[in-house]
Amino acid sequence: MIDKLLVRPNPHNDESQESFLYRLAIQNHRTISDVSTLLSRSDSVSSRTRNRGDNGTSSFEKAARGLFNKREWNDRFKILFDLQFQKFCALCFAENPYVRTLWDFKKYVSCHKHGVALTNICDTCARPIRISSLFRRTCVDCNSQVISKINSVASQDPFSELIAKTMERKDISITEQLDVLLMETEQLKPYLRLVENGNMKAVMDLRKSNLYEYAALQSKAIHLMHDGQRSIQLLADQLDDRLSKLTTGNAISPYRFVINNPSGYKFSKVLKASLASNQMVRNDGELSLKLICTLWQIEEKALRKAFKEVLPGISLKKNQVPLSTFARYSKQIFTICKAR
Ligand SMILES: [Zn+2]
Ligand SMILES: [Zn+2]
Repeated sequence: MIDKLLVRPNPHNDESQESFLYRLAIQNHRTISDVSTLLSRSDSVSSRTRNRGDNGTSSFEKAARGLFNKREWNDRFKILFDLQFQKFCALCFAENPYVRTLWDFKKYVSCHKHGVALTNICDTCARPIRISSLFRRTCVDCNSQVISKINSVASQDPFSELIAKTMERKDISITEQLDVLLMETEQLKPYLRLVENGNMKAVMDLRKSNLYEYAALQSKAIHLMHDGQRSIQLLADQLDDRLSKLTTGNAISPYRFVINNPSGYKFSKVLKASLASNQMVRNDGELSLKLICTLWQIEEKALRKAFKEVLPGISLKKNQVPLSTFARYSKQIFTICKAR
């Protein structure tokens, strides 16, 4: 069906399906919805012809349908993609004007080929760039030229490189590639918060407004992920500071998702070590027994018993202990808990 189109450009292997449809539409003087309808119609036609034992799908259609389409993935993977807007590498686009699949990944923020930050907002009106603006070379919101003015800023981000490498892997399926990225993204989350002192809103705002700064933040988070000691020290400092204004529960609330699933996150080691580090010197707080049990995955009964054994005079009536006490005796307490 799509063969009705007279001009048939070759799809690139790393091109997004949306990009290819735009190119088809532009070159054939059709609208994007015309072209999309043709492709989806050929879907039903070809399945019927296939039932008749005749493969009615041309190689051109096959290639078009084989392209990566970020909208095809179910809820589980949706969080990996930018669905509304289109960021891009100005240098890649200048070399060859089509949208790379990688640009659709939320956390792919600097080009691994050119080492520059991607662009996601229009210089003139500061609105997010849409895919149609890219192909028209002018912003659909303010009519200014989008591409020609872009100054690419040097930016290296290991996580963007990881996305590129994972999507290049030939030994696993696309679903498995996305699963790997989903897992890595989740592991990165607490470290992003750590860089921004627990403030996830600051992280998200930066990703929307300044990809160059966001790439620097993401890169810092990755480096922290590989440097346990620095992470522990940084978190202990931040908690110490926050404890002057907040209860311990509120101070560590940005990491609640880690506490509730400690075996699911590498970061739980950092959280445990900083709470038990005895590095919170300026302020003390109270740590609830429930929190200790959830994070260290031990029974409350065993924990109470261990506390009584190490510190016979301790009162646990309020179901909490001073953080400083916990830090000082945590080693002994966990030795007893684990011995049982
Ligand atoms: Zn590039
Ligand atoms: Zn604009």
